[in-house]
Amino acid sequence: MQIPGHIDPVVTPRTVPARADGRVDLVGLSKDQIRAELLAAGLDLKGAKLRAKQIWHWIYNRGATEFSTMTDIAKAQHPWLAERFVVGRPEVVEAQVSSDGTRKWLLRPIGAEDDSQDFEMVFIPDADRGTLCVSSQIGCTLNCRFCHTGTMRLVRNLTPSEIVGQVMLARDGLGEWPSQPDGRMLTNIVMMGMGEPLYNFENVRDALKIVMDGDGLALSKRRITLSTSGVVPMMARAGAEIGVNLAVSLHAVTKEVRDEIVPINRKYPLEDLLQACADYPGANNARRITFEYVMLKDKNDSDADAHELVRLIRKYKLPAKVNLIPFNPWEGAAYDTSTPEQVRRFSNIVFEAGISAPIRTPRGRDIDAACGQLKTSAERKSRAELDRLAEEKQAALG
Ligand code: SAH
Ligand code: SF4
Repeated sequence: MQIPGHIDPVVTPRTVPARADGRVDLVGLSKDQIRAELLAAGLDLKGAKLRAKQIWHWIYNRGATEFSTMTDIAKAQHPWLAERFVVGRPEVVEAQVSSDGTRKWLLRPIGAEDDSQDFEMVFIPDADRGTLCVSSQIGCTLNCRFCHTGTMRLVRNLTPSEIVGQVMLARDGLGEWPSQPDGRMLTNIVMMGMGEPLYNFENVRDALKIVMDGDGLALSKRRITLSTSGVVPMMARAGAEIGVNLAVSLHAVTKEVRDEIVPINRKYPLEDLLQACADYPGANNARRITFEYVMLKDKNDSDADAHELVRLIRKYKLPAKVNLIPFNPWEGAAYDTSTPEQVRRFSNIVFEAGISAPIRTPRGRDIDAACGQLKTSAERKSRAELDRLAEEKQAALG
């Protein structure tokens, strides 16, 4: 179905480099696709079906990366598989640990020759959960003015393999194979890393389907949250075809301010966004939509803004909670963090209206792993260059 509006405004994504050795990476393929690959390679239907099931289990339940470890597959077939297929992982270029336990990994796609396609993922451990913050794109087409990733150009969309690969690597790093429902550290996933997931819809959907598959990684859709800056035409599809929790980067309650700080608002205005939230399938009081709200000093943090936020949530009858995120600074950013007093006042106003509005504690700031700090192949840009890039991205958005 053609979605009205120009969905992917800037890029012709560069295609993923083909594996030099011609082998097919099985990570990121659905069970049916694995079966089809095995059939195409010459197995009969019955054999392909059985092997696909076994291989799936080894990849996603046991974390196997070598066919030689797949003990229920005949030994004689291991080399045959290894000649044709791989179980890939992005390369870990750097792993950092914050003083608060947050971990950040700098990753390089399989086959990339330099740092031009590097991307990042972050793991945030808490007492009762562990959240992996997954990237969907290398860079971003959008340029929310408070976001460091927004100062990058979009290099390309990540493939399902690279998106699922982040979860696999985190499991590797945390020593969490085989997959088991109890006692694991990685309990939650948020699509809140680099990029706008709804501008890479198919790949994000296919990757999350794999992550949710009960025979494998088995993360429930209730433990996965997709965050969008407001790609309104894709939100209904996200609800219908992925069905995970929705977070919306709201950040402002007036046209004037949202146009400035979340420029996609000029294309998909606030009212349309809130209506799409009201229509989001599966949102109810038990599964609320999260509104992310970055607290920028004297920009979006007044008492009047808080009251307006309450009014809008009520007007659209939204089952919502609000996450107040103190702005995480980066060099060259044009904003300051709101004072703790003002953040508290804002939170209280929203709370008093009966809407949950916790203040998030920034995590991993010391290693630039906090919300909005992710950025790779960072050449330092001047203010003028940043402004020019913002203009360019805006023009491309139309
Ligand atoms: N592109 C998607 C997913 C990124 S989620 C989106 O925008 O929703 C990352 C969250 O952190 C978003 O809500 C984003 O707006 C917010 N963010 C970006 N830069 C930030 C910063 N410097 N400080 C705090 N939050 C920031
Ligand atoms: Fe892109 Fe999200 Fe950053 Fe906006 S906040 S520039 S959509 S990554």
